[in-house]
Amino acid sequence: MNDTDRPDAGAPRKPLEVRCPSCGEMHLYSTDNPYRPFCSKGCKAIDLGAWASEEYRFEAKPTRDELLEDLMDGDEPRH
Ligand SMILES: [Zn+2]
Repeated sequence: MNDTDRPDAGAPRKPLEVRCPSCGEMHLYSTDNPYRPFCSKGCKAIDLGAWASEEYRFEAKPTRDELLEDLMDGDEPRH
């Protein structure tokens, strides 16, 4: 929590702006912002949500065994 006390030694005078990974808006990168690099709490929540849904999609994919079973079903060797 010392970041705010640190003098801007060697830092550019103009405030640092970053693009919010969630909404794409430029906003001031501030150590006071607990949601950085997001601009707001909402944007951070959206990003976390996207992350969760992506993970869900991954889990929803059929497993290799299921795919193999499907393949074997219609491709049984007959002698
Ligand atoms: Zn945002």
